[in-house]
Formats: sequence, structure tokens, C-alpha cells
Amino acid sequence: MSQSISSRFTLRARYVFDGRGRVLEDGFVSVEGALIAAVGTGDEVSPVADSDQIDLGDVAILPGLVNAHTHLEFSMLSGPLGQPGIRLVDWIPLVIAHRTERVPSVDESVAVGLTESAASGTTLLGEIATEGWSGAPLNQAAIGGTVFFEVIGLLPEQRALRLEQARQRAGWHGLQGWQTGLSPHAPYSVSQALVADLVELADRRRLPLAMHLAESPEEVELLRTGRGPFREWLESMGLWSPDALACGSRILDYLRMLATAPRALVIHGNYLDEDEIAFLARHCRTMSVVYCPRTHAFFGHAPHPVERLLAVGARVALGTDSRASNPSLSMLDEMRFLARARPGIPREQIVQLATLFGAEALGVGDRTGSLEAGKQADMVLVSAAQGQRYDPYSAVLDSDEPVIATIQSGRLAFGELPNC
Ligand SMILES: [Zn+2]
Repeated sequence: MSQSISSRFTLRARYVFDGRGRVLEDGFVSVEGALIAAVGTGDEVSPVADSDQIDLGDVAILPGLVNAHTHLEFSMLSGPLGQPGIRLVDWIPLVIAHRTERVPSVDESVAVGLTESAASGTTLLGEIATEGWSGAPLNQAAIGGTVFFEVIGLLPEQRALRLEQARQRAGWHGLQGWQTGLSPHAPYSVSQALVADLVELADRRRLPLAMHLAESPEEVELLRTGRGPFREWLESMGLWSPDALACGSRILDYLRMLATAPRALVIHGNYLDEDEIAFLARHCRTMSVVYCPRTHAFFGHAPHPVERLLAVGARVALGTDSRASNPSLSMLDEMRFLARARPGIPREQIVQLATLFGAEALGVGDRTGSLEAGKQADMVLVSAAQGQRYDPYSAVLDSDEPVIATIQSGRLAFGELPNC
């Protein structure tokens, strides 16, 4: 942490995005301790008396960004694995090879990823933890989130051991600001019986789940027919079992299982059909889709159903996924990419996808995700010197201006503030 701020301060800026679709011009955010005390414009609400006043000038203040899906173990990679357009089933062996060859430890990579996340405005993460993940880097982390412990096991003989390991992981008490969850990896890597076990465990321990679902056409093909490239690859690895999944299954079968957990993230959801989209809308209080726009583009998938999901009231959050399929962990870059790639999505909604909806997806929407009195003082300050004049969304999204500072719970997680 490069600089401390006083326990009572007021930030004034050209734009304050409240995360609920409102932008306050010449607005302010007053902070007392870890919480927001007041938000408004000069003539709306008086800032807290006796607080340090910091005028940021041409700056936009947004709620802290929420990266609802990442694997920080790959944060040392300088670029994605494989070429753009690679099939997921061909990319996974590259990931496995990288895991066996890599020199830096998982902890070193996670530490680098946490630093990059804070430096690009993220205050809350949905992190997937695999083997070698110790949690030690979280002691130093300036940001928080949920750690979903990954479970993989397609073979019947793996079921009992994997469930026991998950039970032990479920007992991880975490650190301040971090919650525990479980992640049955995907339909092609976890048997349906084990997914059912994990959902039951999550329900008993009141834990959230995150599962990669409807990510590729080959996954949907495997479920429907029991055949295709995933089966061929699994057989070549000695990992295929005809008992792993019932032939004629569909993504909806998994959604029905996940719906009985306290909360669930459907990671990707690139190939959800209309029934599945309607199901997710009906379960929007506990289920969310995490769309990863640049990773989606890297694999060259068919257009993501994000607009159909939003139109019927399903909850969508954004994630970067990892540096194995994305050039950076910056949620600001993710929002800017999405604004360019999908101009049909209202820009205020893009901000919400990356803030409040992400916080709600991770179960903490009552505490963070928007700039409101009483919530945690989690925010990101972005230079607003570019973009079309008088258009605050353009100033943030049609620009390559950097993050100036990231504040979590009233403390600087990255950057510096002037005059304090
Ligand atoms: Zn992932």
C-alpha cells in the first residue's frame, strides 16, 4: 500500500457513477472509516463535516470493479495459451502442460494476479483455487472475494475421495474479506453423481458454487450424444467413464442441480438455449451467469446470449477468466471491450455488470457494488480526460485512460491521491 488516507475524507470528482445507473456530475463521495457516509452533488447533501476534502478534477469515481471469475494461478503468463480461435478441447491440454512445466509457484502467480487486479480497479474477486493453492498470498491482499475450491473427478472410483477433499476445503475459514465456495469444474470433468454430492454439501454448509457450463459446442455435444472430441480426448487420457453422465443430458439438467445450492455461478454460459435462459431468469435471486467477453472472443465462440439473458431478467456478471485465455486481468479493459463489441448493451448496464451485479452474484450486493451511504467504501478512480465531452460513459469506456487509484473499505489498495 503506497499511501494511507485519513479515516474521514471526501472525494470530489467530475463524475460519480453510483452503480445503479445514475451519474452525478461534479459529485462527491464522503467516507468515514471503512464505509461510505454520503454520496451526492454539492447542492444535494452536505459532505461530512471535518473530513479531508480532496478535489480530483477530471476523474470518474466508480464502485470497485468485480471480477466474478478468474484463475489467478495463471497470472504469470504473458499471453494466452494457443492461438485465437482454438477449440476449448484443444486448449485444455495446453493448460495441463503449463501446470506441469511452470517455474513460478501457484502462490507467486496468485500474488502477481492480486496485485494486477487491484491496480486495474478490482476490489472483489471470484477466484477458482486448484492444487498448489495455499491461500498465503491473501494475507497480503488489499482486496477480497470468494475462493471457489475446484473439484475434478469423472471416474466412479474418484467420487468418494474427491468428496472428502471437498469437505475439508469447505471447512476453510478463510481470511477477513474472503469467503469459501466450491467449484465442480465442468460437465466433462466431474461426474453427474459427484456434482450432486457437491451441491448437497454446498447446501448443508451454506456455500456458493461456481461451475463452468455451456462453454463450448463440444461440451453440449458430449452431453447430448456421449460422443465427440471431448470423449475422444478423455479416452486418450484414460479419464472417460460411460457412467460419468447420462446420454441425452443437457445443460438444463445441471442448472436444475445447481438451483438447489444457496447460490451458484454459471461460468460462461456461451451456449445456453432459450429454456435454460428462462430457467436462469426464474432463479435470478440465487443464480448468475458470469460472461467473460475477451475470453469468449479469444475462443471465437458464437455470439454470447448476454442481451437475451438481461432482457428476461437473468443476472449477469462479468469476469476476465485467466491470463491463459485473456491478455490481462483488467475489468476496465473488459468493460471497454464489451462496449465496443456489443454496442446494443446500454452503457449504464455495462457498468452495473462489472459492479453491482457482480457483487450480487457473489452474495455481497448488500455490502458493496454501488456507491451508497452505509455500504463499504469500495471504489475505483479513473482519469476522465478523454472521451466525448459531456458524456460520462464515453469518458470511461471510449478511452484508454488508466486507473488512478483503487480504494477498498476506505483504504488505498492501489495508487495515490493528490493533496491528502
Ligand atoms: Zn474458468
